[in-house]
Amino acid sequence: MLERGGKPLFLESLAVLAALPGMAGGAVVVPEGWEEKAAPWLAAYPAFRVVRGGPQRHDSVWAGLQTLPEEVSLVLVHDAARPFLPWDVGERCLAEAAAWGGAVAALPPADTVAVVGEGGAVVKVPPRRALRLLQTPQVFRASLLLKAHRWLREEKPDLEVTDDVGLVLAYLREHPQEEGRIVAVEGSHHLRKITYPWDWDWARDRGRSFRAGLGYDIHRLVEGRPLILGGVTIPHDRGLLGHSDADVLCHAVADALLGAAGLGDIGQHFPDSDPRYHGADSRQLLRRAATMVRDAGWEIASVDSVVVAEAPRLQPYKRAMEGELAKAMGISPSQVSVKATTHEGMGPQGRGEAISAQAVVLLVKREEGAMP
Ligand code: MG
Repeated sequence: MLERGGKPLFLESLAVLAALPGMAGGAVVVPEGWEEKAAPWLAAYPAFRVVRGGPQRHDSVWAGLQTLPEEVSLVLVHDAARPFLPWDVGERCLAEAAAWGGAVAALPPADTVAVVGEGGAVVKVPPRRALRLLQTPQVFRASLLLKAHRWLREEKPDLEVTDDVGLVLAYLREHPQEEGRIVAVEGSHHLRKITYPWDWDWARDRGRSFRAGLGYDIHRLVEGRPLILGGVTIPHDRGLLGHSDADVLCHAVADALLGAAGLGDIGQHFPDSDPRYHGADSRQLLRRAATMVRDAGWEIASVDSVVVAEAPRLQPYKRAMEGELAKAMGISPSQVSVKATTHEGMGPQGRGEAISAQAVVLLVKREEGAMP
């Protein structure tokens, strides 16, 4: 079973299929021996069940067809090896199949396609505009698909078909009284089939190039403490209360970094209960978080943040805070933004009882080194 991030790849297209309008349910057809492994992943999709497939593709489709409720009008067949199903392609196929009897996602070939004979001799070069590369989904009127499969099993066991379009087309040709045609609708390059090792590299990396993270923190303002924000000590009559230096901005940025990389949060890595962090300079904590993120294979592309404080006025310190944050993370100040706002007198920040900060970071996958 192909996996990405520890989850089976079929979940990617299942999530889209399950949400398509009118979807009553379905079967996830898996090879023998995989049923138990696949079943727990379907807990969120009670209308879908795991079904054991057969030796050939058409045996597997047949096994799936046996489990469908009788009142189904259309059946959509999709390859789990095409994990990234664009929503609009699914909708298009359903709509066209409802109108015509059958529809298939298809793309025009980029290369010229030739028919070759013995010894690789080129026999024919059909005009490219007449050619399509067939993908899935392939959608059919349920009665038509069932009849075609039954015909294959009962009357044409030796028929060579590679997909359901080939089968239904052959069935329609031999049964001219049967109504219906199959139309090719616009497919997608995202529907690439995971066939070769390089397809697999593409699938694993897809959607993993960028990660965004959000961080938030708030600390109480009290007398007798220095006010430290973004690593900069700012003159004020009060400061933030906390186990460390209570730098809300550093904490929010560190939390955003960890969150973006899926590494948890700062409470988990730098707990209040740990005496090592008593009175700690939060820039160190931020540096550690940035290192963890880098070690996980990410570069920090940008950090944006906003500090909510009624007083003091932070405008004169913004550049210094950006510089300190950038230094701690090992990036350029041009990649860091610190903004400040008041809370219009409302809430704990507005009454001057607390200062809070929010941060958003963007991580980019490091170029060198393949995915694990
Ligand atoms: Mg904090």
